[in-house]
Amino acid sequence: MDRKEMLSAEKVIVIDFGGQYNQLVARRVRECNVYCEIYSYKTDIEQIKAMNPKGIILTGGPNSCYEENAPTYQKELFELGIPVLGLCYGAQLMMFLLGGRVEKAPVREYGKIQVAVDTSSALFSDVSETTVCWMSHNDYISQAAPGFTVSAHTADCPVAAAECAAKRLYAIQFHPEVLHTVEGTKMLYNFVRGVCGCAGTWKMDSFVEESVRQIREKVGDGKVLLALSGGVDSSVAAGLLSRAIGNQLTCVFVDHGLLRKDEGDEVEAVFGRDGGFDLNFIRVNAQKRYYAKLAGVTEPERKRKIIGEEFIRVFEEEAKKIGAVDFLAQGTIYPDVVESGLGGESAVIKSHHNVGGLPDFVDFKEIIEPLRDLFKDEVRKAGLELGIPEKLVYRQPFPGPGLGIRIIGEVTAEKVRIVQDADAIYREEIAKAGLDRSIGQYFAALTNMRSVGVMGDERTYDYAVALRAVNTVDFMTAESAQVPWEVLQVVMSRIINEVRGVNRVFYDLTSKPPGTIEFE
Ligand code: GLN
Repeated sequence: MDRKEMLSAEKVIVIDFGGQYNQLVARRVRECNVYCEIYSYKTDIEQIKAMNPKGIILTGGPNSCYEENAPTYQKELFELGIPVLGLCYGAQLMMFLLGGRVEKAPVREYGKIQVAVDTSSALFSDVSETTVCWMSHNDYISQAAPGFTVSAHTADCPVAAAECAAKRLYAIQFHPEVLHTVEGTKMLYNFVRGVCGCAGTWKMDSFVEESVRQIREKVGDGKVLLALSGGVDSSVAAGLLSRAIGNQLTCVFVDHGLLRKDEGDEVEAVFGRDGGFDLNFIRVNAQKRYYAKLAGVTEPERKRKIIGEEFIRVFEEEAKKIGAVDFLAQGTIYPDVVESGLGGESAVIKSHHNVGGLPDFVDFKEIIEPLRDLFKDEVRKAGLELGIPEKLVYRQPFPGPGLGIRIIGEVTAEKVRIVQDADAIYREEIAKAGLDRSIGQYFAALTNMRSVGVMGDERTYDYAVALRAVNTVDFMTAESAQVPWEVLQVVMSRIINEVRGVNRVFYDLTSKPPGTIEFE
């Protein structure tokens, strides 16, 4: 089976009606080893038919399906003989289009709700009779469509699920994709593996194998250039391309001096001469250049801009030395594609730097994006498959401008040293306490505040470090994590003792919103 066949053999399609959790739906389906892609509700039905999906999932959405101009779909979708699962708005729409009744609910449900399910339904096979599900709706299905039987209800919601098993049409009011729905993964598994009959052929080892074959075919004996940031995506892209085409690949790694402590050397250890990968690795030590450009600059947006532009300039200089290449490779991943509006509906919200904005300064014929179909967790799995060290593969999210935006105010070499050292201590202690996989994201930042302290009987006037740790369930919002007090105390005393220039440590309690995860 070639890669294209692999991606289409067992495809489930998510039709996006603008809900918040749509990427999550697709990710959960893929966790069932079934390949899944997201399409806007504006996608033509002929295109859907041509893809020959094994199943279709309709997502939630902010609208009310009975209102004029609300997103909708042709009724024919339910007559294709392909199983359809409607979630929330998708469920309401299915009922509405097929002759049921949807209206404003007398009681809106929001949050974790006890749902009584009919476990004889194929969808709820092996699910507990009463199960906690995540609800978020103002409308409700007051009457299921003709031919449908009700298969779940709550105290306030008479039709929490309905189905027409003969036609393999299923509607559920709650969100199985959200982890708060305790048995949601099981329900999605029941749908894609049970109702749709998918065998579960989507696996990372075969993805790697097939991608390698496809890259070889496409590249031939051409030359490929990749900008390696040291982050997860570009590192995995480098690993994959190296496996496919060896030293026809050149990676340019720009060390802008705003990486975490020792990170530049770690990237070099993996991809450089002594690492296990066959490729041309060029490291550009551009620290001094960056610090010079950033001197005296305090405005966050201005800092971001300078860092971004300087990256392009450095990369451009190296690319010129290399000369014309056949392909420019990028570590674009599937969420970048969806968020840029090329895939789903929630789309238009932001454009992504990795997609569309091709650098026009490099002389290349074509772009190559080997991770374009993957979610982040799949990229990580592929990375492990390729032999990239766990430390790099499980690296925490790190902003493009790096420490530049974790240092409030002007960036200097001295401040970079302080935040690198403080952050390294923080990460070390979090790992020691066994919390490194349970906390979503954590890092140290340097505030621009100096205050008076006393150390060794002497007055100090030094900086304050801020520690941040957040958990997020669905990436839209985040809460400050409850790092145990003892751990924070060890971190505080180590930072003050070991990092020159710091005499105070704060812990940031702010959630998102109103805060953001990063400081600038
Ligand atoms: N807008 C619809 C409602 O309020 C659907 C909500 C949803 O899909 N989460 O009921």
